[in-house]
Amino acid sequence: MCEILVIADHIRGVLAGITLETIGAGTKLKEQLGIPLIVAVIAENPSDYRDQVNCVGVDQIIEISTGTAYFEPVITEEVICQLVEQRKSAIILIPHSANGMAYGPSLSVQLGSGFASDILAVEAIDGQLLATRSIYENKVQMKVSFPDKSIVTLMLRGATFELAEKGGTAEVIRFRADLSELPRQWSHLEFIEAPESNIDIAKAEFILSIGRGIGDQEHVGRFSELADKLGATLGCSRPLADAGWLPKPHQVGLSGKLAANCKLYLAFGISGAVQHLHGMKHVDTIIAVNTDPNAPIFNVATYGVCGDVFEFSDALEKTI
Ligand SMILES: Cc1cc2nc3c(=O)[nH]c(=O)nc-3n(C[C@H](O)[C@H](O)[C@H](O)COP(=O)(O)OP(=O)(O)OC[C@H]3O[C@@H](n4cnc5c(N)ncnc54)[C@H](O)[C@@H]3O)c2cc1C
Repeated sequence: MCEILVIADHIRGVLAGITLETIGAGTKLKEQLGIPLIVAVIAENPSDYRDQVNCVGVDQIIEISTGTAYFEPVITEEVICQLVEQRKSAIILIPHSANGMAYGPSLSVQLGSGFASDILAVEAIDGQLLATRSIYENKVQMKVSFPDKSIVTLMLRGATFELAEKGGTAEVIRFRADLSELPRQWSHLEFIEAPESNIDIAKAEFILSIGRGIGDQEHVGRFSELADKLGATLGCSRPLADAGWLPKPHQVGLSGKLAANCKLYLAFGISGAVQHLHGMKHVDTIIAVNTDPNAPIFNVATYGVCGDVFEFSDALEKTI
């Protein structure tokens, strides 16, 4: 095996936190495999991120300037293909983010590499790479191996791996990719800002969040009233925001908001998918109400109520 290549993730000039987690995972693999750890930064001005990705354990930072101000998956994919061909990288670690998902799977097809996404653990045993991912809505974990694959592409889950330590001493080099033959099938049009909202999940100390378990849009009102009575901010899981039952600023989770200051979190009819947990699993006190005793939300709950959310909220109303 010749090297581990981490692809840095950034958006609108800001390095995504998941990049440091991915480098952190790469550092552990480097220790196990004894091969160099390289970080590739593909951006208009890659040197802007140099200090941030220069973490302990990183041997080399490769800066590739794309000449485009915005992330374009086709360009990222082509750059990595050329890079891997030149350097013979063996393990490519990509953040499992919106950006990563836009190029990771097709990159692996281009490279003919082994592939696994949403990885929550990775290790090397006797030189063999083993990646862990969950299936059946996080109820089962499986280990994936990649026999006979000289290249393996892994997409690593966020909020799962330890952050790499800042303050490395990596060598910095530049790589020039030839993008002249690349068909320009799409281009960035604009960013659309989320609408203004008086809901601030990040600041709320007490959140009552509802999920698909409430069954129907017509029930949102009663939980909204309950939240008001309790003095809680109303949060929700993504399916409710996607369906337009509640505006997007109410959404807690990976593609929503982090309940950064929350001390008490009520999860009503929320299964506890990793993307939701990303936004709230750190909260000190979590009370989950769910009819399914095996719902993953109970793994992070301080108190769990295995029961119907309507019966529970009726009982709660009576005690207010
Ligand atoms: C890239 C990506 C980003 C994502 N980002 C987010 C995100 O930011 N936030 C987020 O929430 N999700 C996110 N998701 C979606 C996530 O994977 C789950 O699909 C979602 O969290 C599930 O929402 P839920 O728990 O409300 O619904 P479900 O998974 O359908 O769970 C409903 C739960 O309600 C329970 N239930 C049913 N009836 C009752 C009842 N009467 N009383 C009590 N319990 C009941 C069920 O047992 C079940 O556990 C993302 C997914 C992807 C791929």
